[in-house]
Amino acid sequence: MFDIIIKGARVINGTGNAWFWGDIAIKDGEIKQIGKMHQKAKRIFDVAELVVCPGFIDMHSHSDMNILINPRALNKIMQGVTTEVTGNCGISPAPVDETTIDQLKASLGGDANEVDWNWRSLSEYYNQVKNNGLLVNIAPLVGQGTIRIAAMGFAYRPPRTEEMSEMKRLLQQAMAEGAFGFSTGLIYPPGSFTETEELIELAKGLKEYDGLYASHIRGESSTLIDAVKEAIKIGKEAKVKVEISHHKACGKRNWGKVKQTLRLIETARNEGIDVTCDQYPYTASSTGLSACLPPWVHEGGVEKLLERLEDPSMRIKIRHDIDEKDNWDNMVMESGWDNIVVASINSEANKYLEGKTLARVAQIQEKNPFDTLFDLLLQEKGDVSIVIFDINEDDLRLVMSHPTMMVGSDGSSLPSSSPEGKPHPRNYGTYPRVLGKYVREEKVLTLEEAIRKMTSFPAQKLGIKNRGLLEEEYRADIVVFDPATVSDNATYEEPHHFPEGIKYVFVNGEVIVAKGEYTGRTPGEVLRK
Ligand SMILES: [Zn+2]
Repeated sequence: MFDIIIKGARVINGTGNAWFWGDIAIKDGEIKQIGKMHQKAKRIFDVAELVVCPGFIDMHSHSDMNILINPRALNKIMQGVTTEVTGNCGISPAPVDETTIDQLKASLGGDANEVDWNWRSLSEYYNQVKNNGLLVNIAPLVGQGTIRIAAMGFAYRPPRTEEMSEMKRLLQQAMAEGAFGFSTGLIYPPGSFTETEELIELAKGLKEYDGLYASHIRGESSTLIDAVKEAIKIGKEAKVKVEISHHKACGKRNWGKVKQTLRLIETARNEGIDVTCDQYPYTASSTGLSACLPPWVHEGGVEKLLERLEDPSMRIKIRHDIDEKDNWDNMVMESGWDNIVVASINSEANKYLEGKTLARVAQIQEKNPFDTLFDLLLQEKGDVSIVIFDINEDDLRLVMSHPTMMVGSDGSSLPSSSPEGKPHPRNYGTYPRVLGKYVREEKVLTLEEAIRKMTSFPAQKLGIKNRGLLEEEYRADIVVFDPATVSDNATYEEPHHFPEGIKYVFVNGEVIVAKGEYTGRTPGEVLRK
């Protein structure tokens, strides 16, 4: 007798192979049998005409702190996500060092300060998360930025010998605790202070664990091509596998460069370097407003950054670098004030600016845009998120259809009870948008290929051996959706909307979404490599 049988579905098993008719039997959290069957089960889900496929593995998530703060956030499961890869873009909530903990917290901003930081290691952090109850599985990466902050704060220089060995020790500990690899955010401090050689040295520590090097590369605009080369170089010299995060070319004059970067990836793969990339299906990106400032302004952490913004002579220097220099990921120069939108703001006084471009804010406040930027960062202690309209639709389609691309939302779990601000719609719509807009409507991908990019491909890259496919003995992470209606409902103006067409979601054999509604269960696990 099985626990569950999902009956009469079109099975897309995650390999990329064409669908077939079949039933799926689940017992003790595992898929026990696939095919036509007549046995009994405690529960039968008759899903005739719907597609059943493996649960989606979100290759690029920022839910790290949010899964502790909002453990019942629904925006990921409503899309069919059953596993989130956390610790991306160089930042994870651990390891934590006593002497630099305040700098780490300040750099994480707002919500991070609402919780008691009584963990120090990655495993202590995830034990706490697990105790709170998890909706989905978590596959953690450890952040290179977090490791570097623990070892040397926000120092803008190469590490001393003892600092380098401390970083290696912290990475080794995180890997031994089950991390799937480490990530970098090379436009964010202290990743932006880190030279290539230091990253190669650290990445060598991944090898014995077959860990992943995932990178928000050093530039996605004028320096995009060099930045992809750097990521490949790190993979080549440290002999580790590489994931280029949220791959794209930002800013109009850089559009089209993804043709070259995809060729670089192909060439590297031909040479035996395992490089792949991920992508979210939108033509706007999102980050923190402070990323509009040149790297040197971040030296010493948030407190020092705010001091610099107070200083009129520094303002002139910063303004000069934003106006003139393109040797860093200069978002204002590449995209312009009228393409950068204030997404979320903490203070009540400035909430009215959400959804407005920086150009518009400057107009309202009757200031020049530079002072608008500097003042807003000062008022909000550096913690403002933005959405930037900076990606080309043809580039997006080209990257999406490339065989080395997998899907990752770059979003985080968000509280459903009191939705705030205008966060990027990718938080709510990534997976249904690929399936609806890009598979059904525009036919950029076949349904089977899209599902491969959401399931077995990320599982393979991470080294998760028993998820990502509908196979006997695999964990029962499963999504049932309607291919005729699946679509995203979140927009830039109104992001807080769940998608359509995702009917059932199972995590570890438990049904957490039934007929589109959350069932109240918390079957998620913390996965360890
Ligand atoms: Zn990133």
